[in-house]
Amino acid sequence: MPEPVAQPPTPIPRPHRILGLGGLLVAFLLLGLLSYRVSEHYGIKDMREKASHQLDILGAAIDSEVTRHASIPSAVELNPDVVALLRAPSEEQDIRQAEANRFLQKLNDHLGGPVIFVLDMNGRVVASSDWIFSENLLGSDLSYMPFFRDAVRGMPARHYAVDHVRHEPGYYFALPIRDEARDWAIIGVAVVKSGIREVERRWLAQEAPALIVDRNNVVLLASPPDWRYATLRPQPAAALKLLGSQQFAGQALGAISLDIDLDGADEGRVVRLPKHLRDDIAPSQGARPYLAMARHLPGTAWRIVVFSDLRPVGVQAGTHAALSSAALGCLLLGILYTRQRRRLARGREEARAMLERANQELERKVEERTADLSEAVTGLQREVQERQRAEQTLRAAQAELVQAAKLAVLGQMATGITHELSQPLGAIRTLAANAAEFMRRADLATAEKNLVIVEQLTEQMGNIIGPLKTFARKSPAVSTAVDVAQAVDSALFLFESRLKKESVIVDRQIAPDAATAWCDRNRLQQVLVNLIGNALDAMHDEPLRRLSFTSERASSGMVALAVVDAGCGFSEEALAHLFEPFFTTKQPGEGLGLGLTISRDILRDFGGDLMAGPAPGGGARFVVLLPPLPPESRETSP
Ligand code: ADP
Repeated sequence: MPEPVAQPPTPIPRPHRILGLGGLLVAFLLLGLLSYRVSEHYGIKDMREKASHQLDILGAAIDSEVTRHASIPSAVELNPDVVALLRAPSEEQDIRQAEANRFLQKLNDHLGGPVIFVLDMNGRVVASSDWIFSENLLGSDLSYMPFFRDAVRGMPARHYAVDHVRHEPGYYFALPIRDEARDWAIIGVAVVKSGIREVERRWLAQEAPALIVDRNNVVLLASPPDWRYATLRPQPAAALKLLGSQQFAGQALGAISLDIDLDGADEGRVVRLPKHLRDDIAPSQGARPYLAMARHLPGTAWRIVVFSDLRPVGVQAGTHAALSSAALGCLLLGILYTRQRRRLARGREEARAMLERANQELERKVEERTADLSEAVTGLQREVQERQRAEQTLRAAQAELVQAAKLAVLGQMATGITHELSQPLGAIRTLAANAAEFMRRADLATAEKNLVIVEQLTEQMGNIIGPLKTFARKSPAVSTAVDVAQAVDSALFLFESRLKKESVIVDRQIAPDAATAWCDRNRLQQVLVNLIGNALDAMHDEPLRRLSFTSERASSGMVALAVVDAGCGFSEEALAHLFEPFFTTKQPGEGLGLGLTISRDILRDFGGDLMAGPAPGGGARFVVLLPPLPPESRETSP
C-alpha cells in the first residue's frame, strides 16, 4: 500500500504576495492615518477646552477690572453738584467746578483707580477727579471721542480709547446727564475711564499668544506686545488714520497686519500665523498652525483671542499613529508567529507520524526478512548436514575404493609374491628334510646349520610379507612428515622381483631440500605403487626400461616428485581422459581405470595434486605435488 506523503506547504504565488504586501501597507497607512486623525481630533478638542477655560479666566479678569466701573456714570449723573455745575452760568462755574471736582475726587478715591470726569455739551472737561494733579483733564476738548458723540445723542457709550493728555489707554463709560428742570434735556456727559494696566499686566504674563481686538479689528492688547495696534486684516490707510486720531490719540494703527480671519473662531479655528511675524512669537514657532479661540467680552465690543500651538497635538497624533501602526505590526507578527508555530507543530506531528509509519514498515520488513533468513538458515543447515552426510558417504566409498585398489594391486602382484615366496619355501622344505635326516644320523652340527639357514629364509619371507601387510592395511588418512625417498623405496620394494625380472633401470634422485612432505605415508605409497605399476605396464614391450624419480622444491613451496618412464607414452585421447574414472587402455581383467582417479583424489585430499604429460624421451611423466611441512611441525620434525 503506498504511504501517504506529507504535502509540503504550497508556496504563495508572487502576484498574491505583492498584493498581500500592498494590502498590508495600505492597512498600516490607513490605521496610521485614522489614529492620527482621531488623536488630532481629541487633541484639538482638549486644547479647545483648555483655551475656553483660559478665555473664561481672562474674560473674568477683564470684566472685574474694566466693566465694574460701568455704573459709576449713573452716580455722577445723579449728583446735584455736577448738575449744578452744568446748569451754572459761566461766572459761577469756577465755584461749581470746585465742588464737582471734590465730589468726583471723593468718588474716585472711594472706588480706587479710575478717572471720573464730566463733559459739557461742547465736549470740554468741566470737572474731573484728577483736578489735583498738575496734568489733569480739566479743560481738555474730548468732543472728538466717539463715546462723547454717542452720549450727547442720548446713548450710553463705552469705548476703548487713548487720551491726549496722558496718552494712557483706558476704557471709557459715558452716560448723558439730563436736567430734570429742563425737561430731561441733555446738559452734559458723565464719563468714567477704567485703566487697563492690570489687564495689561495679566496679559503680558500669557505664555501663549493672546490678544484683545475691538470692533474695528484693531488689536488693543497683545502678547507678544509688538502686536499692539496691529490689525487682523489689512485696512485702508485713511480709515486707520481717522480711527487713530479719534480713538488712539494719533497712534499709528495697522503697521502690522496679522492676516488672521477669526470667523468661526468662537468655536475654535485653525489659523496659521503669517511668516513675517514668526519671530514675534518665537523663532521656532514660525509658520505653524495654531488653534485660535475667540470670545466676545460681555458688556464691551471686545473680543479676546487666545492661540494654542498645535504642534504638541501633531506630535502626539504622530506618536499615536506610530504606536497604533506598531501595535498592528505586533499583532500581525503575533498572528504570524502563532501560525508559524502551529505549522511547525503540524509539520513535527506529520514527521513523527511518518517516522512511526516508517518504523512500523521497517519492523514488518525486518520480521519478514528474519523469517526468510531463518528459513534460509534452516535450509542451509539441512543442506550442510546433507553435504556432511554425503561427504562421509563419499569418504567411506573413497576409502573402500582405495582399499579395493590396493587389493587389486596386491592381486596383480600376487604372482610375483608367490614366486618370491616359493623359492625360500622350497629351500626350507629341502633343508628341513635334510636336517631331519642329519639328526637321524646324529649329525647334529650339519642339522643345526640347515636349521640356521631355514631361520634366515623365514626371516627373508617375513621381509617380503611385512610390507605387503602394511600396504594392505586399511587405515584412515593422517598427515605426518613423510620421507619421500623412503616412500619411493617402499613402493619399489613391492615391485622388486618384477623390476629385476624385467631388468628395469631405476634412477632415484631425491633433492635434500625436497626430501620431506606433509602427507599420509601409506596413501603416498599407494599412489607411488599405482604409478610404478602403470610405468612397468607401459614399458613392458620396450627394449630399454628405465624408471626415474626426481624431486625438487616447486616455486610454490610444494615438493614436486616427478616419476618418468621410458614406456609407450600417451595417445592424445588417453591424455585427455587419463583421470576420468574407468578410463583404461588395458585388457579386461588387467586394469579397472580407477588407479589415476583415486591417486589424484588421495593427493588432493591432503593438499597436493597429480599431473601427467609426455616425457622428453617419449615416455610418460607424472608429477606428484606434495604439501611441504607446516611451519609449526618443521621445528619438531627430526
Ligand atoms: P589401469 O591401470 O587400471 O588402466 P589407471 O587409471 O591406472 O588404470 O590407468 C589408466 C590408463 O592410463 C591406462 O590404461 C593407460 O592407458 C594409461 N597410463 C597410465 N600410466 C601410463 C604410463 N606410465 N604410460 C602410458 N600410459 C599410461
